[in-house]
Amino acid sequence: MDIQLFKETFSDSIIKINEPLAHYTYTETGGPADVLVFPKRKEEIAAIVSYINERNWPLTILGNASNLIVKDGGIPGVTLILTEMDQISVKDEKITAQAGAALIDVSKKAYQFGLTGLEFACGIPGSVGGAVFMNAGAYDGEVKDVIQTVTLLSRTGELKEVTNEEMDFIYRNSKIQKTGDIAIDVTFELKEGDQDAIKERMDELTILRTTKQPLEYPSCGSVFKRPTGYFTGKLIQDAGLQGLTWGGAQISTKHAGFIVNINKATATDYIELIEHIKSVILEKNSVQLETEVRIIGEDPTELEKKTAKNIIQKATKEFKKTVHVEQSIQLADEM
Ligand SMILES: Cc1cc2nc3c(=O)[nH]c(=O)nc-3n(C[C@H](O)[C@H](O)[C@H](O)COP(=O)(O)OP(=O)(O)OC[C@H]3O[C@@H](n4cnc5c(N)ncnc54)[C@H](O)[C@@H]3O)c2cc1C
Repeated sequence: MDIQLFKETFSDSIIKINEPLAHYTYTETGGPADVLVFPKRKEEIAAIVSYINERNWPLTILGNASNLIVKDGGIPGVTLILTEMDQISVKDEKITAQAGAALIDVSKKAYQFGLTGLEFACGIPGSVGGAVFMNAGAYDGEVKDVIQTVTLLSRTGELKEVTNEEMDFIYRNSKIQKTGDIAIDVTFELKEGDQDAIKERMDELTILRTTKQPLEYPSCGSVFKRPTGYFTGKLIQDAGLQGLTWGGAQISTKHAGFIVNINKATATDYIELIEHIKSVILEKNSVQLETEVRIIGEDPTELEKKTAKNIIQKATKEFKKTVHVEQSIQLADEM
């Protein structure tokens, strides 16, 4: 992989080399990306994706990194983080948002324009693209309920617009988890609503979230998918695991479905704790827990595990994730 040539070819792009992803992930853990690019336009992404495809290099897409654990060995090849592509526009009852826009901002925009349908999303800290990939949802709403179309870019560089039905949305899943297509922008179809009622619902959900979830710590949200017939938090609590600390990671004392970073955790701490929970619940309840959080990247060497500790200790956290979590907390006051 000729990184220098890549930098010269895409000299107008923002590119960082060997960039620690702990600076970007919501868990504040994770090894470095060999090459991290911050594209601003869809044509730029298309050109980079075609270039990478022709050379068979690994390519990884990040949104807000709120549903990811990046292993301490880091991510090989090129990683695109789409957070610079954050435009949102409103026309009549439709909102079109670029993939890197924060879902929280889209939900807020809907409220400002008196549009109903996205209240459920007012505290989900992902990007629009990540929400499409995951079919993100909360409190009986899912993005699939309000998406009209999605513009996708294939791994060979072709753009196409697909309908909601063509996305094959199911619980926390969409077809791009299989195809590897990249979501570029999304049009939401909402309905005219009563602005006071929209605000009331958002306030209500914000209070529910802030009282039930440990938003005061870094985390990746619910670690596990809901197994049929069970509540993950209750299974973990009943197994006596709540509060268990592994390195710097802890099963939240507020919500046992969350693992929080209480003291400079590494991704290895997170992954080991997840495996421990899975094996205890399998043994006690014969339930095979499946992670909702995506675990990506390379297994670390012993040296990389040590380096991860050092980098985490040095990392400064200016990334907008804190803003998003604060936004969800303060939403009620701002409106
Ligand atoms: C405190 C907290 C609360 C949360 N609450 C909820 C909740 O209520 N409901 C819920 O569903 N989730 C919740 N989550 C999880 C998370 O916010 C969602 O899964 C969100 O949709 C992830 O979006 P992201 O941009 O952060 O994706 P990332 O974490 O960046 O990526 C997740 C996956 O999506 C892929 N991806 C990202 N962008 C694109 C794109 N443009 N095209 C193709 N693939 C892409 C990535 O490759 C990766 O595999 C919560 C997380 C936290 C930290």
